[in-house]
Amino acid sequence: MSSTIFRLVLPLSCAATALLLRYLLADQPLNSTSQLDFLLLQLPYILLGLATLMALLTNHALEAGISISLLCAYWLIQSFLQSPLNSQPASQIFYLLTLLSPALLITYALLPQSSCLQLQGLLAILLTPLIILFIAGLLVINQQLFLASATSALSNGLMGTYLSTLSWLLYFSAVGLCLGLSLYQQQSIHNSVLGCSLMSLITYGWIQLNSVSAFMFSGMGLLLCINLTISLLQIGYRDDLTQIGNRRALQQTAKTLRGPYSVAMVDADYFKKINDQFGHELGDQALRVIASLLAQTAEGGKPFRYGGEEFCLLFKGKTEQQVLDTLEACRQAIANYDMVVRDKQQRPKNLKQGEPRRGASKRKSNLRLTVSIGVASSDKATSGNSINPFEQVLKSADKALYRAKASGRNCIQAA
Ligand code: GH3
Ligand code: MG
Ligand code: MG
Repeated sequence: MSSTIFRLVLPLSCAATALLLRYLLADQPLNSTSQLDFLLLQLPYILLGLATLMALLTNHALEAGISISLLCAYWLIQSFLQSPLNSQPASQIFYLLTLLSPALLITYALLPQSSCLQLQGLLAILLTPLIILFIAGLLVINQQLFLASATSALSNGLMGTYLSTLSWLLYFSAVGLCLGLSLYQQQSIHNSVLGCSLMSLITYGWIQLNSVSAFMFSGMGLLLCINLTISLLQIGYRDDLTQIGNRRALQQTAKTLRGPYSVAMVDADYFKKINDQFGHELGDQALRVIASLLAQTAEGGKPFRYGGEEFCLLFKGKTEQQVLDTLEACRQAIANYDMVVRDKQQRPKNLKQGEPRRGASKRKSNLRLTVSIGVASSDKATSGNSINPFEQVLKSADKALYRAKASGRNCIQAA
């Protein structure tokens, strides 16, 4: 629950900071001849440009699409919306922006993530420029296009804004959808779209406030850059298969250790046989189950995937004796877990061989997993040794693990 609430802190704090800075720095109209004001006006281009570059370099097509779409929107605001909103083409451009911005954000929240080089990714990146070119072409042909709807929307705006009912509905849908998605699917794209929807709503809803767009679009650029950086850190420090920390994350955490701690090495028993018997895909699923059971059961311990079918539990502030009960609970949770295996996963690849067995595809069998555990604590590390203390504790835990394997597996040994 706390991590769920924490997810909302970033988009909300970016929006709040942008609003606060707007009140502190820009109660007077920004003057583009002053160097600071000029920088503030260019800041959205810098931050959104940086977000676009980061997204393209790291193959995040949706984030690149959102950044480009926001760059286009900010350019349109700075180029066409600095004159009264009831003039032409400001009214039509404002009207279209208030509808297209939330609609595009909803689209980006729903599109699946894809590579920048795939057709789907390229379309996501070029979506907004293509729509703008298309609408610009229509407006060149007929300058009165959308004028009646824009004028009516401006004079019938809801809640003291110039936003039409449809625009409010789209924004509510975007915020509601992203709130749900960012809480339940926990992907950073939804968190970014949520913050961008809020800041975009503030921009268009209160467009008459001096320089509101410069601050809000800077906030959106900052949010995208932060979320992309977090995604990059996760790529570097998170194991893709099991979604827990990887060996690099363990080494990084080890540098912050102070006081007593214990390390448990957890190794799946006869895992090669599991792969051979049930296939590599089911082996992967079994590793996910072990990681998730360790995360749920190891109270006070942090699980990491050390490599292959080997995991490491790090208990800060605890001695070997204090973690034995917890480790026994982990061992039992894994040993008692029933993994259902459907026959089709064991079905032979060869068609002829498979046909006689096809009728059996609904039958299930269960896969039982067990782990062996070796544990050691920091008081075992001897000072003056050439290896660093954490490596010494790790080595002791590894030796204990070998003893657990030698004494029949599915058990715990202390160093
Ligand atoms: P022991 O009880 O002695 O630990 O036997 P074991 O078979 O578990 O150990 P061994 O080191 O002989 O084999 C480890 C196996 O784990 C071999 C390898 O294919 C498998 N493995 C390692 N990483 C992965 C992975 O990411 N996915 C799958 N499916 N298998 C993996
Ligand atoms: Mg093993
Ligand atoms: Mg092993």
